[in-house]
Amino acid sequence: MARKIGLVLLIIFLLPATTLTVLELSSLNKNEQILAEVYGNQLDAILFSINQYSQDVGESWASQLDKLIASSNESAGSQGFMRKNPAISWFFLADSLSPTSLRIYSLTDTSKATFKEEAIEVLCNETALFKRLSTYFQADYRKIEPLHGLRAGKYTLLLFLCKSPNGHPVTCGIAIDPKIYIEEVMAPRLQEIAEEKVVIFVNQSKDQQTVYATESFDASLASQQKAMWLLPQYTVGIMLKGESLERLASRRSYTNLFLILGINILLLIAVFWVFKNVKRELQLAQKKSDFVSNVSHEIRTPLALIAMFAETLELGRVASEEKKLSYYKIISQETQRLTRIVNKILNFSQMQAGKRQYQLASVDLNILAHEVLSVYEFHLTNNGFTYQFNLTEDLPLVQADAEAATEAIINLIDNAIKYSETTKEIKLTTGIEGSYCYLEIKDKGMGISNDQQHQIFDKFYRVASGPVHNTKGTGLGLSLVKHIMEGQGGKVTVKSVLGKGSSFRLYFKKV
Ligand code: ADP
Repeated sequence: MARKIGLVLLIIFLLPATTLTVLELSSLNKNEQILAEVYGNQLDAILFSINQYSQDVGESWASQLDKLIASSNESAGSQGFMRKNPAISWFFLADSLSPTSLRIYSLTDTSKATFKEEAIEVLCNETALFKRLSTYFQADYRKIEPLHGLRAGKYTLLLFLCKSPNGHPVTCGIAIDPKIYIEEVMAPRLQEIAEEKVVIFVNQSKDQQTVYATESFDASLASQQKAMWLLPQYTVGIMLKGESLERLASRRSYTNLFLILGINILLLIAVFWVFKNVKRELQLAQKKSDFVSNVSHEIRTPLALIAMFAETLELGRVASEEKKLSYYKIISQETQRLTRIVNKILNFSQMQAGKRQYQLASVDLNILAHEVLSVYEFHLTNNGFTYQFNLTEDLPLVQADAEAATEAIINLIDNAIKYSETTKEIKLTTGIEGSYCYLEIKDKGMGISNDQQHQIFDKFYRVASGPVHNTKGTGLGLSLVKHIMEGQGGKVTVKSVLGKGSSFRLYFKKV
């Protein structure tokens, strides 16, 4: 039964857990990939927002130029515009693609001629690009096209069209110094985005030289990079701080796996615990049902004897006085036996209800042993037992409830009688051990095997095999003895060798 329940519990609890573990193990790689992809997408989104920001900066410059063109003093306004935006080295405006309408603005005059040449070259050579821009312009959309690597060298030209007050397009070109642009315009924004979690860096596309990074980083670790929209000769890259995406993803997967394993172990412990409890309850139920049949048996024998001898006496068939006397004796003995059984059960139920109280007083164990034996002597000799005293002289007084202690001793002597079939010897010893005095009841009976010794004090427990099985009993005696001893602040121990005999020691606290 217990095994069946154990199996059901295992199936109910462990099957789903094991399936989950196996699934988790098999999907570990897939999970890592998915996680890496999710992280990748998030980092991509950050890169996109960085590009979007720099696009916004370009747009804002273009709007400022719109206003400049509409103002009455373009030249004066241009100075303010460039001072406000140090990344802009110079810029030009032209009403058409013809160089005659070209205006060059720069904060210094020295390179103006070079800038002009550059601007003319752009106007002449990039007709296709301007055509495209003008198509967008007509559709009311302003596109900013970056150009670099021309004669302007280090500058990147942002080309776009502005609207003059009369509605005509004005060709604009802003030359920016990429290094200043990255450091002055981009850097604060990148720092803000990076926070403590990621490193953002800007590399030159051609040689992967880093020109700016939000903090120093290990370039050998995996990172994601995207070309910058406004500065195509640069890429902006991003990486997780300290850890690569793959490691982070695999760490997460392993954390999950360990969690699942932990849960499995907890489940196993829970299953084991539930199983243990169920098994204990089943055993208790079995013991209780055995108890009922044992008690019925125990009561039936003395009742049958009493009935039989009482009837014989009643019918007046017993002639000799001697025989009559022996019948009376049997009736009285069996009545005592019955009383003992009933008392045992009553005491046990009191003990179970927690109602049993012990009245402690100073007791001399030697005297108590003598008293019990004087009452029990007849019973012992009648059963063919010899007994022996080995009492320690000057034994200190102990704390005990004399009546309960007597009950414990009688239970042990009763057991010694019940479980000694061939060698019928009982020895009572008293002694001192630490803060205790003890009374030992030793028999040379059938003994108790090692593995049973710790169970015999459990309620209803009876050794289920061997010759013991044939001896009647309730399984309450030793649990009562244990309760009595602990209730008096003492304890009971057993030493026994199967086939050789047992000795039970009742330890009482010295006064
Ligand atoms: P009962 O004697 O009514 O069965 P107990 O609680 O007194 O119940 O004892 C529990 C079990 O311990 C007994 O069934 C018996 O197997 C074992 N036992 C107790 N005392 C002895 C003894 N002196 N020698 C051998 N076995 C013993």
